[in-house]
Amino acid sequence: MSPKQDPARVRFAPSPTGFLHIGGARTALYDYLLARQSGGSFILRIEDTDQKRYQESAESDFKDALYWLGLVPDEGPDQGGSCSPYRQSLRKGIYQDHAEQLINNGNAFYCFCTPEQLNQVREDQMKRKETPHYDGTCRNLSHEQAAERIQAGESYVIRFKSPQSGKTIVRDLLRGEITVDNSNLDDMILIKSSGLAVYHLAAMVDDHLMGITHVIRGSEWLPTFPIHALIFRALGWQEPIWVHLSVFLKPDGKGKMSKRDTELAQEKGLPIFVKDMDKMGYLPESVINWIALMGWSFDDKTEFFTIDDLIEKFSLEKLNPSPAAINFSKLDHFNGLHIRNLSPEDFAARIKPWFENAGFIVEENKLLQIANAIQTRTKKLTEVVDMAGFFFKEDIDLVIDRIISDKLNATQAAEAAHKITQLFQNLEVIDLETAEQPLRDIAVDLEIKAGQLFGLLREILTGQKVSPPIFDIIPILGREKVLSRLENALGIFQNLSM
Ligand code: GLU
Repeated sequence: MSPKQDPARVRFAPSPTGFLHIGGARTALYDYLLARQSGGSFILRIEDTDQKRYQESAESDFKDALYWLGLVPDEGPDQGGSCSPYRQSLRKGIYQDHAEQLINNGNAFYCFCTPEQLNQVREDQMKRKETPHYDGTCRNLSHEQAAERIQAGESYVIRFKSPQSGKTIVRDLLRGEITVDNSNLDDMILIKSSGLAVYHLAAMVDDHLMGITHVIRGSEWLPTFPIHALIFRALGWQEPIWVHLSVFLKPDGKGKMSKRDTELAQEKGLPIFVKDMDKMGYLPESVINWIALMGWSFDDKTEFFTIDDLIEKFSLEKLNPSPAAINFSKLDHFNGLHIRNLSPEDFAARIKPWFENAGFIVEENKLLQIANAIQTRTKKLTEVVDMAGFFFKEDIDLVIDRIISDKLNATQAAEAAHKITQLFQNLEVIDLETAEQPLRDIAVDLEIKAGQLFGLLREILTGQKVSPPIFDIIPILGREKVLSRLENALGIFQNLSM
């Protein structure tokens, strides 16, 4: 914890309308880092006021994805906390009360305009080439007039009464001061006719009541940011520090990554949603490292960060407000680095479920040896079964078409298998030191290249063209399996040569 820093209270406030994607995960990560490094609190708030777009599965997806990444909230719907409830649909009355306060202090008003009227206004404005905005019809109704119309059962919304002249100055930590002409501000709806609050009110009230010190959110909120600051001011509250993160550009850097681009990327199998990343063989550590650098950097050279490094080194000041292109292949790179950074025991524990899901019975002692043999060459956990499943198989299927060719006929292969068997039977220990030279001699004897002989032995022992080094494999397979695979291959080659 930095001695200068006061404990930050930060919230991740997803709307449960879809799965957690890298953009949302990045926001949550920055929140988490700031909370951890300042000894503060990371809060999860579910912004479910948009009932039409609400998806029940999205909420559990968000939580699962955050937990998988290790970004576990200190306060939230599951954890509870002093600002409960952390679900906006349970806070309706709180928003109502604050909307009324705003009405009473002259900063909001009841609006009775019907959808038809509003459409007409909109059309007229568009004809006049004006940006559509509320035309102020109900702005100056008196309290009595409004009360009467409510009494009479008219449907209404509550709108914010934006200033109409002068300027509003707001401050974003990354962008500095932003000045807007108040004539451009709209009278935004705060409470809908259903009585439900919209984001503009609900999030501001919650951010204040939950003691949020830093609002870190996407830059899609920049256009309505002045209204948000004005709501804080109208309620006499101190504003939080506002931080609007950079947008993502398409991988080619040409244009913003739209919803459609995101869908297309996902269809192509690119890592977009956190829920898919485990299945794609990525470690949460790698995903964290990857997203941390999408808009933040420590210096211009360091790129490997563990979560502890990030907690120590992260700083809001080094966030970059400029848009940056998403580099999907970078995740593979980070995954390789983080796989190599695991202890062999940890790596073994991560690959175990992959073998089990492929139907193998995994022996612990063997697993650790296998982990040692493949850790440095693994880029994604999806590869481990193809790379090392042969260790657990009783018998392997030889790919004859790959083994027998015009360069090596069945008779030669049989002879090679026979000679290797004899060699191995006579060796007490089969390793690089004892077996490499004799194997080379066998190749000379058979007038084939050493590489061919080793390739053949690899196929015989693993059923694969590519595998960890032969002398790493042999002790793990064990003498018995090595000899039985040789015997099996010998039988097949002999049959073929007859
Ligand atoms: N519920 C908003 C969203 O999902 C949150 C924005 C914010 O962090 O304030 O976009």
